[in-house]
Amino acid sequence: MKVIQSASELAQFCLEANREIGFVPTMGALHEGHLELLRAAQAAGDFAVVSVFVNPLQFNNAQDLAKYPRSLEADSSMLEKAGADVLFVPSAEEVYPSSPMASGVELGELANRLEGSFRPGHFEGVLQVLTRLFSLVQPTRAYFGQKDLQQCMVVRKLIEQKFSALQMVTVPTVRAQSGLALSSRNQRLSPQGLDTASAIYQQLKSLSQALELGPALEASTEQLALLGIETEYLQAVALPDMNPIDHAEESEEKALVFAGYLEGVRLIDNLLF
Ligand code: AMP
Repeated sequence: MKVIQSASELAQFCLEANREIGFVPTMGALHEGHLELLRAAQAAGDFAVVSVFVNPLQFNNAQDLAKYPRSLEADSSMLEKAGADVLFVPSAEEVYPSSPMASGVELGELANRLEGSFRPGHFEGVLQVLTRLFSLVQPTRAYFGQKDLQQCMVVRKLIEQKFSALQMVTVPTVRAQSGLALSSRNQRLSPQGLDTASAIYQQLKSLSQALELGPALEASTEQLALLGIETEYLQAVALPDMNPIDHAEESEEKALVFAGYLEGVRLIDNLLF
């Protein structure tokens, strides 16, 4: 595996490889969920480029950015073992050589719902970093986790509007045995917190069977609160625009989506149902 910091070196190295590039953008502190994206790229026969870049533009909260886990050495050895071809670790100057320009991507209502409303500016930051990274890496395919469901919908719009030749591949959420969705942020939970957090997925699963969504959503929120999990949103939404629905029959493609806090750590999860 080649570790590359500069965009020009990356371009040269990929040119020499002369293969279709599969790109896995990450913010590091890697876990099995990230590796699953890499494996999907490998299964497609791609020259697998994984980037690690903690994008300051997508953090609406300076504390969250400061506390975001960073572990480049461990990431690098994990990727090497998993057989990645390139680890791309650009500096902020490399990603944003001049002040970033507005992405110009039309997200419609998606921009203001859920993550968009609780993390103002977050998706615009995601759009800006991906616009830049896609231009630098020039992938044939790009891999994203369903764990960040709304982000997948946002990236789909970016690709439709600005990178129409790029194929997007979405990979199902990888979970711990307890059901907890793997996340870099889980590292900030205590052992007890890790245990408690598995209740989020249990509630999503039981909600997916509920006959009356409204009261069930309220009951789940209360159950989580009793465990010390403070819900920011817990909703049933229709895809791809994530508009709230009250009844499961309202939409074919739908998901239960959650965001909330435990031990000061922001956790998200979702379940297609
Ligand atoms: P992040 O490093 O959190 O920005 O995530 C990088 C990519 O990994 C995103 O496409 C995420 O959706 C994906 N990802 C994160 N956690 C998981 C997981 N538990 N299962 C599958 N994909 C994941």
